[in-house]
Formats: sequence, C-alpha cells, structure tokens
Amino acid sequence: MYSKISCILCGALVTETEPEVPSINWMGAFRALYTVWEDWSQPRISGIGRRNWRDVIPLDEAVATQAPSAIVDEVWLKIKLLVHHFDPALYVEWNSQTVWGFPLHDSCWNLLRLNDPEIPEEAVVHNLFDLCRSQPIQRNVMDWGHDYGGLLAYELAPTAVCPGESAILRARSFIGNTHLSDPINIPELQSVLDQDGLDLASDQSSQLASSNITQDPFAIFPHEILVHILAELDSADVVSLFFASRILASSGLPGPFWRSRFWPGKEFSHIFELCGQGSSAPRNWRQTYGLVKAINDNPALENRRRIWGLASRLNGFIRARKQLKECEGIPMELSEGCGSRKPHRSNRHMGSVSPLCNYFTRGSRALYYRKVLIKGWIKKMTISVNRLNGRTYICGLSFVHQQGVSSIGYHPIGRRTQEINFWASSSCRYLISILEIARDPRGVRGIRILSNEDGWSRWVGDHVDLPKRMIKCERPCEESGEPTISIVAGFDAMKMVLLRTDGERKASLRDTRLWYPEIPGPSLHLIGVEHWRLLEYRGALPHSVCMFGGPDGAWLPHLKEVIVWGIDRSSLGETGNNTLVFGIEFKYNKEVDDGRDSIVLGYASASGMAAPYSSAHRISIDSAGGERITGIDAMYQDPDQMIGFIIYTSSGRRREFPPHCKHYIQVDAEDGCDHFSEELRPPPETCIVGFYSTLEHNEIGVTGSYDKVLMDLGLLCAKKVNTVFERY
Ligand SMILES: [Zn+2]
Repeated sequence: MYSKISCILCGALVTETEPEVPSINWMGAFRALYTVWEDWSQPRISGIGRRNWRDVIPLDEAVATQAPSAIVDEVWLKIKLLVHHFDPALYVEWNSQTVWGFPLHDSCWNLLRLNDPEIPEEAVVHNLFDLCRSQPIQRNVMDWGHDYGGLLAYELAPTAVCPGESAILRARSFIGNTHLSDPINIPELQSVLDQDGLDLASDQSSQLASSNITQDPFAIFPHEILVHILAELDSADVVSLFFASRILASSGLPGPFWRSRFWPGKEFSHIFELCGQGSSAPRNWRQTYGLVKAINDNPALENRRRIWGLASRLNGFIRARKQLKECEGIPMELSEGCGSRKPHRSNRHMGSVSPLCNYFTRGSRALYYRKVLIKGWIKKMTISVNRLNGRTYICGLSFVHQQGVSSIGYHPIGRRTQEINFWASSSCRYLISILEIARDPRGVRGIRILSNEDGWSRWVGDHVDLPKRMIKCERPCEESGEPTISIVAGFDAMKMVLLRTDGERKASLRDTRLWYPEIPGPSLHLIGVEHWRLLEYRGALPHSVCMFGGPDGAWLPHLKEVIVWGIDRSSLGETGNNTLVFGIEFKYNKEVDDGRDSIVLGYASASGMAAPYSSAHRISIDSAGGERITGIDAMYQDPDQMIGFIIYTSSGRRREFPPHCKHYIQVDAEDGCDHFSEELRPPPETCIVGFYSTLEHNEIGVTGSYDKVLMDLGLLCAKKVNTVFERY
C-alpha cells in the first residue's frame, strides 16, 4: 500500500508521479540507497525508481540473477523503503522485505553529489548507508537530530525534553510550499545563467586604488591583498568593513569579489552552476550577483538553499565517517536483545539501544558489537572522540595493559585522542574497578574511570547535566592470578552507543540504572521500583534524584512544607490519567541551596494546556519539632503510570495525593482495573533524605496534551549517624 515517506536529505515527501501536476514531478523521482537481506556491506545506489501502488527501482543485474519473479517485473524490482526493524524469520526466502533501503529524491541525490564532488561515489554510498542505519525513523522521516532546515516542527522539542528523553519530530508540519519546488531545474535561474557576457567592461572598472588617506589601516595593502581579503569575507562583514575603511568604501568592489560570492561557504554557494567549472566562463560577476540576488526569494531557489545546507551537513558526516578505520575489537553477534524478546516490539522509552528486531524510532542502534579482554594491570587508557551536532561522543577505547594493547571501536587517523594514565606501581593498583559513563539517547558522551588506588580519573568528553551509569569491573586481585576484564561495547556508524562488562552479575539498583544528574553515593540506600511492570518499562530513562534532606541530612530540620503539583480530576475516576504528579516541591524555613528556599523533584507547573486543571496539595511538616517523612505508598495504574501517593510521617500523620486516591483505586479495582501500589519504607537505622523518580512526557487525560510527569517514586535513605538525626 502507498504510504507517506520522506526523502532522507530534504525531508519532503517522496510522492507518486502526478502527470497532471508536472511542477512536482521531481518529488516522484527517487533513488534508493539499498541492499539485499542483511548484506550490510554491499549497499548500492539505485537508478530512478517510482512509487505507484508499490515502490520499485530499476533492476540491478547483480540482483536480477538471484531474485525470483515474485519481486521482479521485467525491469523493475520491488523495494521496501525506510525499514527500521529486521525480523530474522523473514530472511528465509525472497519476499517483500528482501530488498530494502533509504529513499532520496533524484534531485537531492544530485545536489548531495554536487555539494562535495571530491568524495568518490562509492564512498558516499557505503558511508551514507551506515549513517542511515544509525538514525531512528519517526513516522517515516529519518531523525538526524535536525528539523530539516525548518521544514518539520517538533512535537517534543530538544529544549523541552526530560532528562534522557529524545526529541520527537512532527511530520508534515510544512510552513508554506517552498519545499514543493524543484531545486534543480529553475527557469528563473536559467535565464540569469544564460545572460553571460553582459557588459564585461563594466565589471573591471572597480579598482581598489591605493590611497593617501594615511589613517586608514588598509592603506598599506596592495590591490591584490585587498581583493583577497574581501573575497574571503562574508558579505555582511564586508558591509561592516566599509564603515571602518574609507579606502574600501570609496573604491567599490572588484569583479573577483563578486565572483567569490559563489564559492563554497559563501552566500550563493548553492548556485553550483557558477562554482568550479561553471565559474571559468567570462562573466560580469557584479551583474550576475545582482541578478541572482533579485530572484533570491524565488521558492525553488529557497528550497535549493535549504537542501544545499542539509547536503553540506550530511557530506560533513560522510567525510567524518570515511576517516574512521574499521570498528576494532572481537566481533559479537548482531542479534543481541532479540533472542528472548518478542520481535517488532515498540519500545516507547527509547532512550536506549534498539535491537535489530525492535522498532527503531528513538534512541540509538548498534551496528557493531565488539568485545575486548583486558588482562592484568593497566598502564594507560586512550579515548577517541567524535564531535557530532555540536556534542562530543566517545567513539573508541584503547587499553595499554600487561599483555599489550587492546582496542575497541573507532580510532580515527590523525584525530587527537585523550589519555588517562595510571602512574602507581603496586601489583594491584592498575586495576580498573568502575567505568562511569555519561550518555544521551544517541550515545555515550563521556567516560571516567575508578582505579583501585588512584581513585577517580577526570572526565573525558561531556558529563555535565547528562544521565550517568556505572559499569562495575570488579575482579579478584591476587598476587598470583591475572584478573581479566571483558568489556563489551556497541557502535553505530560514528560513535559508541553502549558499554558494559561481559557477564555482569545482577547488581543493585544503583549499579544498573541510569541516574540524573549524578549517581547516588554508595552510602545511600535506594528503595523502590521493584514491581515487574516498572522494571519492564523503566529501563532506558534515568532516575532523577532530589536530595531534599541535603547531602548529609543537614536540611531535614528546616523542611517546613511539601507541595505536590499535579492534576487532580480523581472525581472522574483514576483511569485515563485523570490524576498525575508534575512535581514535588520541598520548602524550607531558611535558604539551604545556593540561596534557594525550596527545591523541586520534577516541575512545579504545568504547560499552558494542562494549566487550568492543575492542582497544588500542601502538607506542612513540623521538622523543627522532630517530624520526619517515614514512608511512601506509591500507587500505579496500568501499565506503569503513577497516579498518586501517600506520605507517612513520624507524627503518625498520613496524607494522600490526590486526596481520596486510595478510595478511587479501590472503586476502580472493583470495576476490574489493574492497579497496584508499592510500599516504600526506609531500612532500620536509616532516614529518608531524598526521593527519586523517572520523569517523562505522558498524556494528560483531561487535555489530550503531553506534559512532564513523575512516572514513579523511590526513596534515598541515609544512616542515622550524626546529631542531625538525633531528634528523629
Ligand atoms: Zn529530497
């Protein structure tokens, strides 16, 4: 069936051919970057295909020899476009999923090649295919981490996400119709190009004459240098320069300057006809510049400029990918995560790595799983990084250890790496005890190492304001033995997307989860998230930590009020997300944290849409009189949404949020609704000093909109060791 799909370069639809609307025929002519089955290493670029009641590309001879007639129609080959999950069961015989790939308009393919013709076509095909396999696909649009030059809007903008969440593109939110215009064949531009040879003499008239205006710093430069300076500058900077230099202002601009406006990186670089070979013909460049400027707001030229920018960006990725060597390490099975899980599973919490058999709509995907064995002590660790979309990502690790050098991932040639050295000298000191990573949904952003005696290394890469996870590498250290650490990592086309140790034992909440902004200290007890439903759904998003008791419980005596922000429409019943918690605010009777007198877990307000329904329930706490929070009952509805909770205090008080929550749960339970609750209490001799929760955008029942809500609750408890707790 015909479904809407978007070009991977420009983001606009690849359409059916519409003979009655010839102006958009270019959108029906597409090429596919494709392969057969799991033949990842042999991608091809197809000839011009078409979409009608099915998607077809011209039959490639290499494929024709294998393909049965079922998917071949004389000269056409059926293809499945924008596939993002792979079912091993389908790779048994030829079928509609056998030939699959990524579409781009023929015009866009041409613009991509014209934008950086020096990259050989084979390198473009090979590297772009791997890059495409590394990007999530939302609603048949490839998510490169940009909005296609403003063509698409965000349903969930990058600036609005909760920690660890992915931005979500909203498809088909086009502003205007410029994206429908053919970016290659532009009659208005052609008529400008045809006017070559216009009044060539006038182009030579502007000469940057040296001058006797001695105070002008540009007076000392000869004509050639001034021309060179001007040609290198952006046009806006040239205007500024004219205000600063009377010589330049009075001389006007020479022909070579106007010509340079069509060079790569300059304002008219997308007029590729006038760059490279096209710029060698005699031409009045000043006049040409004026004529092109006059048609600058032509919709087709606007579309070309937008796609040209996207092509430059993509070619930058292709060049960076081309620089990477092979992915090093011991290869592992690619079907990771698909064995025990149901294929085609849609994972709505995709902050994590999507196995091949799962839908890949957010987060990241590993194209390569690699293992490395580190034997004995380690002398040095080298970390390679890539910069992508303005962010640092780890792309490879290399360990100098007792038995040589072991590397994993990418180590780009000629790129600067960062090193962590271990200088100590005892037999045990060089052992890595813990790796800590900082990550975003797309990959591993930073790493630091805890060695047995040197303590924590500095961070390499980014770590501020990012979720973190620890990876334990503990092995027995005996004088005679040589402890071995087996490190496993997954990589997409450009970066590390997961890191763990092989055979990781079942460990505590603290050791297995992502935490934000920092991993709770080892002295804290973590209580919560035990129900299988929560474990099932919570895996990928970090727990946000709120230490309302302060780092050492010092703020507890100053806590005077707890305010629960949320939506309370419990009178409508508990189902359908009629009650939700946006945030829990802790108010103090003095300034406790950088001058603030309150801190919030989550958010103390709702979005505009949900605001009319929002509520704030308050409970005062007599902390000065020794009252403390002693427990929580968190209540959930199907499958994993927290709808409210009960707070217990040491004064024997009990408060529900929203009020009567438990009553409605019981009523709904009698109606067959599947609710459950978790009773959270601190272990003996400890005291609650913080809460943690997974924050996520979720549907607000009464409004149909999405807002940031607390999905669960957990406790952070500290040992009652100092005088702060003595009144408790
Ligand atoms: Zn396109």
